[in-house]
Amino acid sequence: MKDRAPAIHDMSASEIEALLREWRQPAYRARQIYRQLYAQLAAAPGEMSDLPAALRERLAQEVRFNELELDRVQTGDGGLTRKALFRVNGGPPVEAVLMIYRDRATVCVSTQSGCAMACRFCATGRMGFRLNLTAGQMVEQVLWAAREARAAPAPGKPLLTNVVYMGMGEPFNNYDRWWASVERLHDPEGFNLGARNFTVSTVGIVPGILRLAREKLPVNLALSLHAPDDELRSQLVPVNRKYPVAEVIEAVREYTDKTSRRVSFEYVLLQGVNDQPARAQALARLLKGTATRPGVRLCHVNLIPWNPVPGEPLKPSERQRVLDFQAALERHRIACTVRVQRGVDIAAACGQLAGGVQ
Ligand code: SF4
Repeated sequence: MKDRAPAIHDMSASEIEALLREWRQPAYRARQIYRQLYAQLAAAPGEMSDLPAALRERLAQEVRFNELELDRVQTGDGGLTRKALFRVNGGPPVEAVLMIYRDRATVCVSTQSGCAMACRFCATGRMGFRLNLTAGQMVEQVLWAAREARAAPAPGKPLLTNVVYMGMGEPFNNYDRWWASVERLHDPEGFNLGARNFTVSTVGIVPGILRLAREKLPVNLALSLHAPDDELRSQLVPVNRKYPVAEVIEAVREYTDKTSRRVSFEYVLLQGVNDQPARAQALARLLKGTATRPGVRLCHVNLIPWNPVPGEPLKPSERQRVLDFQAALERHRIACTVRVQRGVDIAAACGQLAGGVQ
C-alpha cells in the first residue's frame, strides 16, 4: 500500500473515474466500483465479484478501504439497537448507533472523535476533542449501519432510512467534511438517500446554521438548546458564551425564513435544573420568536429524559415532571414530543457516547 493511497470513501464518482483512467481502465469499471460501494454495500474489493481479479487486487493494494477499524459491536433492545465502536488508526474512538424500528432504521453518526464543546451532561464532552473525521469516515459509519440493517432479523427488515448526525462531535465544527458526506450519501448514482432523510444537530454554532440555510439540499436541522436563558445555558452548554440564546434564535429564524423548514429543538431534562414550570414558560416565549409569520411557527420540541453519565451528579427529571413540561409547551401550541430512548443499557443513548472511555 502506498503511503498516501487515497481513501475510497473520500472519493467522488468522478474521482474514482479519474483514477481508473490513470490505470487505463474503461469508465464503466469506475461505475461498477461506485455501485458496489454504495448500492451493493461491498466492504472490500474482494466482495466486488463483477470486477476482474487483477483490478480487485490493484484496488486492495493501492486504495484504502475501511479507514475506521471496527473494534466491537454491542446490541441492546433485543438486538434492535446496535452500537459500533470504531478506531481511527487503532487509536481515537468513534461510535455509531443503529436503531431499527418497524418501518425505518436510523443511524446516529459521529463527525468527530470526542468533542471540544464540553456540554455538562454529555459523556463525549468529557472526553475532550480528539480529531475531526473525514467525510469518508462518516460515510463508512453509515455503510456499516446499512449492512447491519440489511442483515438484521427484524420485522419487515427495513433498509437504512435515516441518517442523523448526533453522535460524537459538533458537525458544524467540521462543516466541509460533514457536508461532503451528506452529498456523497445523497448521490442518486450511489447510496441515493433523500435529503430530507438527513438530520444534523448543532449545539448552536451560528455561522453553521446560517451556512446551512444557503445549502441546496434540504436536510433537517436540530438545535440542542437545553435552556431558554443565557445564565443556565452557559452552565450547561459553554459555547453559549460565544453564541448566546438570542443570536442562536435569530439564526434559526433566518434559517426558517429562507428554507420554510421546521427546526427541532432538543431539550435534555435535568431534575431541578432546567425542568421547572417557569422554564417551560420561558421556552415557549422564546420559541415564539422563531415564527416566520404571525401564527406560523416552524419548530418542534424534543424532550429528552437525561441518561446518566458516570461521575456526573445531575439527575434525570422524574416522569411526571417531563409530562408537565410537555403539557406546558403544548398549552402554548408548541408541538412537543418526549423522545423514546434507545440503547440506554449499552450506553448508546443521547449523550452517552464516550468510546468506552468513562
Ligand atoms: S452534546 Fe454534542 S456538542 Fe455538546 S459535548 Fe456532547 S457531542 Fe459535543
